[in-house]
Amino acid sequence: MSTIAIIGAGASGMMAALTAAEDPGSRVLLFERQNRAGRKLLSTGNGRCNLTNLHAAPEHYHGGTADFVRPALAAFGVEETLAWFREHGLLTVAEPSGRVYPLSDSANSVLDVLRFAIAEKENIRLRPAEPVLEIRQAETGLQVDTEFARVTVDFVIVACGGMAGAKVGGVKDGYELLQGLGHSRTALHPALVQLTTETDWPRALKGVRADARLTVTAGRTRLAQTEGEVQFTEKGVSGPAVFDISRAVSTGGEGLTLTLDFLRDYAIREVYDLLCARRKAAPHLPAGDLLTGMLHNRLGKTVIRYVNQKADVPLAELPDDALKAVARACKDFVLPVRGTEGFDSAQVTAGGIRCAEFDPATLESRIAPGLFACGEVLDVDGDCGGFNLQWAWSSGRLAGRIGK
Ligand SMILES: Cc1cc2nc3c(=O)[nH]c(=O)nc-3n(C[C@H](O)[C@H](O)[C@H](O)COP(=O)(O)OP(=O)(O)OC[C@H]3O[C@@H](n4cnc5c(N)ncnc54)[C@H](O)[C@@H]3O)c2cc1C
Repeated sequence: MSTIAIIGAGASGMMAALTAAEDPGSRVLLFERQNRAGRKLLSTGNGRCNLTNLHAAPEHYHGGTADFVRPALAAFGVEETLAWFREHGLLTVAEPSGRVYPLSDSANSVLDVLRFAIAEKENIRLRPAEPVLEIRQAETGLQVDTEFARVTVDFVIVACGGMAGAKVGGVKDGYELLQGLGHSRTALHPALVQLTTETDWPRALKGVRADARLTVTAGRTRLAQTEGEVQFTEKGVSGPAVFDISRAVSTGGEGLTLTLDFLRDYAIREVYDLLCARRKAAPHLPAGDLLTGMLHNRLGKTVIRYVNQKADVPLAELPDDALKAVARACKDFVLPVRGTEGFDSAQVTAGGIRCAEFDPATLESRIAPGLFACGEVLDVDGDCGGFNLQWAWSSGRLAGRIGK
């Protein structure tokens, strides 16, 4: 009989607990700080829970090397995860992008199947509202001090998650517990988060969505590029494509620039020709409507102001140079970047406990025998689209095997 303490009943901790409990000779104590298990899961995917992605593979992960995530993903990848959830009663559906959601479209369904499975296991004891304060090496095994008790166990799995989503349980505890046992961490940055930029233009466009190519640069160096939906906000830009490049911004230092190309499928010459054709066809149209039909109306009017043209001037009065400037602004709409929103709004933490301090084949600590870690507390963060939860399931499964 071995006793295993799992710290954190989030995505990875619940998966680790259910895996460890498959061995009838194990007794699992699952400690959770909050009043209930899996609170963050309910907020994922805007309440729909994007639980994995059909394209999950090491290249979608950052932080520790691709080699670190490989064994966990190979042992329990997308296929195994979907089969596991199906066996536990969850039906899922995949979108063309590869994102997988519960068929019910409700994150509750994902949490419910995990909760029910835990309740069925006589050898798992869930202890909610019981934060773990310290873990120490004991003469045999490890000693776990919670707010209410001290227990000595054979193995500990730290599954406390990261700092992201502070309102739904993001805390520093996991890093501190592991640092107390001799582990070290990298710098922590919010990722999959909104960008804050110079605000004049975003504020004027608040609520507008646009399809664009986004490029982040530091001076002449391109740090990241992606394509997709951008949403303008009071303080900057948000949306799936923005999340994709937010890691590059939060780790990229000061003085960055975001360039938006709103007509990415058209060369600048084609855009200019279209504008000239419009001027010829509708010379009395006000300049403010030059881009009507090409861009969202408010965006089109904002681009005209961006190049310092008056909206009420008839198109016939716009010289070629003005049309060239408008064409350029459609392709190179530049926003100086201030930074990102904080951990409260972020979906994931970039950075964490150094992966090199854990064996990727088992997720056991190389520093403290009997200690394991899984999920976001490690220096692993995935792209937007279900990759972070897949890491939680894969790493929780691997850690829960306790090296077997
Ligand atoms: C708003 C939001 C939306 C997201 N949407 C998605 C999505 O759709 N798809 C996706 O793949 N990823 C998404 N993510 C990311 C994903 O939720 C996380 O990467 C994942 O939950 C990490 O799993 P984890 O088990 O490591 O940590 P968590 O799920 O955060 O669980 C950690 C648990 O440990 C507990 N804990 C912490 N300290 C202690 C302590 N001292 N003692 C006891 N318990 C403790 C916490 O209360 C928490 O319940 C989203 C995140 C947020 C914030």
